Amino acid sequence: MFALYFYLMNTQRLLRRWGLMGGMVLLLQPLCAQDLLQYWNKPEAMMQDQAALLFEQAHRILAQYPPSTAPNEARTLALFAIDALLHDTRLDNGKAFLDYIQSRYRLVADKLRDEKPDGKEIRIYKLYNHGFVVQTPSVAIAIDLIRGGRADQPFVSDALIASLVDQCDILFVSHRHSDHADKSVAQLFCDQNKQVIAPPDLWENMSPQLKHIRGEYAITDSINIPHRQTALNITVFPGHQDNIPNNLYAITTPERVTVMHTGDQYHDDDMEWISQVGDQIEVDVFLVHSWMPHIEKTVEGIRPKWMVVGHENEMEHTIDHRESYWLTFRRFKEVQKPYIVMAWGEHFTYYP
Ligand SMILES: [Zn+2]
Ligand SMILES: [Zn+2]
Repeated sequence: MFALYFYLMNTQRLLRRWGLMGGMVLLLQPLCAQDLLQYWNKPEAMMQDQAALLFEQAHRILAQYPPSTAPNEARTLALFAIDALLHDTRLDNGKAFLDYIQSRYRLVADKLRDEKPDGKEIRIYKLYNHGFVVQTPSVAIAIDLIRGGRADQPFVSDALIASLVDQCDILFVSHRHSDHADKSVAQLFCDQNKQVIAPPDLWENMSPQLKHIRGEYAITDSINIPHRQTALNITVFPGHQDNIPNNLYAITTPERVTVMHTGDQYHDDDMEWISQVGDQIEVDVFLVHSWMPHIEKTVEGIRPKWMVVGHENEMEHTIDHRESYWLTFRRFKEVQKPYIVMAWGEHFTYYP
């Protein structure tokens, strides 16, 4: 392949020197459409190819330096590069972005299927927006798993999301906003006889597999997962995003590890009980959205051992509220617990 480019470049150089560039060079261009050597009059193709290259290069660096509480300069730069790409609206819904997000989902689906955690590991995979899959040796729990994008034009194909649902045993949905709740995904779980837990204002009468849980105060419950012959103990906290009911789930796996997810918690009146959660339950890993208000007070109240941050780069928002990885580092600077910033498709391994 290189020999061909070399030949074409040399040919172009010679033609240019002889003043024969015009038609002859145009004739040559389709031959190298895969990897253009110049983009004159093709600014969109240039932007797409540059973005694809940068996404790929950033993830090569992230693979070399996996999630850490003290990311090195290279890992940090890779995350900032992804921020820059995802905040450039010229790239919205373009091929580079769609290929990128789909490749990240495919990676997670493959890893969930092929790399089961050993007896001591809990793996926390991060997906688009505030979506996570918590995989333990006995169960795989999806939280706010969505395809992203608009319902009629999702980022992730039905086949791809189905391959991910195949690997999960249950879905928790925090609240009704479309960057957290995707009816098609919930339906896939129900079709596979897997339970979906959601607040009461979502998908009334959709399926007997859908269970609405929410109370005036925190509710504890045990959720059977018959096909895995196991059960989860859960506590459902009645939070809010402004006036919208937002469930915060604390899920205890059969390995006795508790993971708590914030949804889009955003209401000052809830701070009273949030500041006492740590007195009621022991949270191992806190899956917190990056723009959680009163973050320091929240973390003092919940007292998690670890935190994994989510909800960066929500593409349905304008760029001022898309949120960035770099802004997470700024917001969490004074937080007194270890936190992990991850790109989509990465995972953090927790050892209880
Ligand atoms: Zn929301
Ligand atoms: Zn949200």
